[in-house]
Amino acid sequence: MTQMKVHIKSFGCQMNRLDTALVRSSLQQVGLCLTDSVKDADIVLINTCSVREHAEQRVISHLGHLKHIRKSRPDIVVGVIGCMAQRLGEKLLEHEAVDIVCGPTQIPQIAKLVADIFVSRKKEIAVTEKILKKTTQKQNLALEEFESVFSREDENIPGQAYVRVMRGCNNFCTYCIVPYVRGPEVCRPPGAIIEQIKRLADNGIKQVTLLGQTVNSYEYKQGEKTWSLADLLAAASDIDGIEWLKFVTSYPSEEFFDDIMHIMAASEKVCSYLHIPAQSGSDKILRAMNRRYDSRQYLELLERAREIVPGIAIAGDFIVGFPGETEEDFRATVELTKKAEYRNAFIFKYSPRPDTSADKKLPDTVPAEIKQKRNVELLAVQEKISERLSRNFLGKQVKVMVEGLSKKSHIDSTGGNPQLVARTATDYIVVFNGPESLAGHFVEVKIINTSPLTLFGELVHEY
Ligand code: SF4
Repeated sequence: MTQMKVHIKSFGCQMNRLDTALVRSSLQQVGLCLTDSVKDADIVLINTCSVREHAEQRVISHLGHLKHIRKSRPDIVVGVIGCMAQRLGEKLLEHEAVDIVCGPTQIPQIAKLVADIFVSRKKEIAVTEKILKKTTQKQNLALEEFESVFSREDENIPGQAYVRVMRGCNNFCTYCIVPYVRGPEVCRPPGAIIEQIKRLADNGIKQVTLLGQTVNSYEYKQGEKTWSLADLLAAASDIDGIEWLKFVTSYPSEEFFDDIMHIMAASEKVCSYLHIPAQSGSDKILRAMNRRYDSRQYLELLERAREIVPGIAIAGDFIVGFPGETEEDFRATVELTKKAEYRNAFIFKYSPRPDTSADKKLPDTVPAEIKQKRNVELLAVQEKISERLSRNFLGKQVKVMVEGLSKKSHIDSTGGNPQLVARTATDYIVVFNGPESLAGHFVEVKIINTSPLTLFGELVHEY
């Protein structure tokens, strides 16, 4: 019998990317092989994101394409997994192209759902009925086992792996759909996380990124001890083979903040990089977003981070055009951006997400063209800052972790070597020429040119 082929398409954040990697590895274990081509696939799985409307629209258009393919390939099995599966549930199952709907909590069941459908030829659904309730002990154990058994190197970045330290979120920022699709916060046991990192290190992983929606609020009580992210980072720093540790995404909160910054300053392995979204510089908008800090407290955190970890690189996120955002509110965001001195900021235009309290209670008042204008202006403000910070690297040598071939052709190829892309410990992107075999290794690069978001270098030596 020919081996069944599965094609997996993934949308969304690093959390989704990690889920996709786990699903991929679990399906391989039951004998399926992977294909990059939808045309060759017997099974197509789409791991979905609900955070922005645009991401959902792309999935719907993909499903339209699959509906078309199904006309000539009636046996193809199509599954939708992840956040959109949880959000839309039965509604999604009604789509002509869809055979399986599987929420994020149910991904350990994906191999069984796929196997069942080939027997029953009936649509299958596995989602959480009451998503705002804590996951059951049984679900946690299944997710824990799934995570530990199928954790691997990132498929696109050799030498690196993502490790989830917590699931879900309790914050209920008024614009955010995450608590409604991933449920309440659950922190994984520290022993399981550390064991997982040790196994990854034994398999050649050098860089681990710890993941959580609010990763800095990780808290796990074990006997007398309460583990924080700082404790996890300290324990992971002791693992032989692991050279760099990163973590995303942090919520601007006092809790454990100094401890985390102190371990960053003390451990050579914990990279000096902090991704800490502000979302707005206006206190009125922050309150409307249900963020639990004001702009002054936020900037004080950044100041403390810089005091404790000199040279730390900080990245932020903003939403422009949130309901009720006036010109004055937006000016406050511009001011905060200037003061924050981010190395990079991710800027999004507000789009209401169904079921969130902003969608229910706050009319989407800011016109699309104003959102667009503010987006462009804030990007320009940030670009100037990024450009200035990037220029500080000119002529310096930096240690980077090579990710692989650069997708864009930034610089001339010399000596027949292709262009590689790498990152510094502070998460700056570096492009240079070198042999592809360097992917997954640390090298020293001299920076010879810069742009706001990219540093251009020459290979100095390998480590
Ligand atoms: S902290 Fe707020 S924005 Fe982040 S995942 Fe939780 S609810 Fe969403």
